[in-house]
Amino acid sequence: MTTSDIDSIAMMDRSTVMHPFTHLKNHASGKDDGPIIIDGGRGIRITDAAGRKYIDGFAGLYCVNIGYGRTEVAQAIADQARKLAYYHCYAGHTTEGLARLSDRLVRMAPGRMSKVFYGLSGSDANETNIKLVWYYHNLIGKPKKKKIIARERGYHGCSIVSGSLTGLSFYHDYMDLPVSGILRAGVPHHYWGGRPGESEEAFSERRAAELEAMILREGPDTIGAFIAEPVLGTGGITPPPSGYWDKIQAVLRKHEILLIADEVITGFGRIGTPFGSHLYGMEPDLITSAKGLTAAYAPLSACIISEKVYAAMEQASDRIGAFSHGYTYSGHPLGVAAANAVLDIVERDGLIHYAAETGAYLQQQMQQAFSGLPIVGEVRGVGMLAAIEFVADPAKKLRFDAALGVGARISAAVRKRGLIARAMPHGDILGFAPPLIATREDIDEIVAITKEGIAEVMEQL
Ligand SMILES: *Cc1c(COP(=O)(O)O)cnc(C)c1O
Repeated sequence: MTTSDIDSIAMMDRSTVMHPFTHLKNHASGKDDGPIIIDGGRGIRITDAAGRKYIDGFAGLYCVNIGYGRTEVAQAIADQARKLAYYHCYAGHTTEGLARLSDRLVRMAPGRMSKVFYGLSGSDANETNIKLVWYYHNLIGKPKKKKIIARERGYHGCSIVSGSLTGLSFYHDYMDLPVSGILRAGVPHHYWGGRPGESEEAFSERRAAELEAMILREGPDTIGAFIAEPVLGTGGITPPPSGYWDKIQAVLRKHEILLIADEVITGFGRIGTPFGSHLYGMEPDLITSAKGLTAAYAPLSACIISEKVYAAMEQASDRIGAFSHGYTYSGHPLGVAAANAVLDIVERDGLIHYAAETGAYLQQQMQQAFSGLPIVGEVRGVGMLAAIEFVADPAKKLRFDAALGVGARISAAVRKRGLIARAMPHGDILGFAPPLIATREDIDEIVAITKEGIAEVMEQL
């Protein structure tokens, strides 16, 4: 792109695009030096309009698992577009791809799964799952079981209900969220939530006891579901403390509360297993998936529905008629074509197993390079998800003054050096979620650049 092309695109963008999660005035006025025009991508790297290359250490938004520029996927989408770009799947219509994808997802998913319902985003899939929780309880004659428990610092999307499930106030402020009927369970993060001397096991035990106390206080017959990410994602990339899922699930089973596993990040190999639920022994009743499902080559989300929940809905259908929920683009053939092509690659290349091995290397290298630095409180992660949390005083667990913007500055310092790592919205946390195809050499490069970026900001502090 020529400089004048870049200038005119930038001008149009600043005057007409409303960007998500962007300081509106700084962008519109050009004070943020934006927009950053991304023009191409190959493997784990993207290129901007000026020709600068970056390692995408966050796979877009934890989604481009197979890396950029996979022409097989482009070909599959194009072939489908030529043959049949669209037909709906209302009233029993289908396409070959849709049937094949659903069969594959049911086989791949944990537990006893039965059916798949499609949307376009993680947010809409969570909306659907909440509607299914309400629908299910109405159909089985427990119409009071409607409240949903979500967790502090959970992330479930940005639409009205999914945004309400999200447990980060940044996503609620000035937007009249959360809506009513949502309860909040404590953050499953031992580093900040644990008491002095409390083991991870004991901390998990306490979280489970607090959960049960809340359920009893509210009345178990008023609570429909517990929704959670197997590994906390946008809330800080935090694997669960040991024993957590066993203890939480025991409480949920006891009070007949459905478990929704929000696997939008952890699905399809991100943590080295097909789903995060596999790694932690979770047995969800409903699964939310999106992101890695198509590796973001096209929009598609999937709600995977267990035998238990589905059977009640099927049984009721003679009495109540058709299932009355769906989107024009549910099961869109182009998204489905992308998902099938992506999952073919994941299977053929053994990417899930590969991610487990490369992920172990990533964790080990991150620990070795960063834990113990004078501004590092915790280095954590699992599989190909990792985070470094920065604090002013690790011994006293003192946070930096938020006004210093330490996380954002380190993110900027690594970006200057050609690496994208995300400053997470809560606290001074630098997050990593590289494409699953990253090699050990790529990991070494990511770690080396991060070291330099941290050193630069440490010097300034
Ligand atoms: C990204 C994300 C969502 C929301 O997905 P969108 O496609 O952005 O609507 C929901 N849950 C989790 C865990 C996510 O990471």
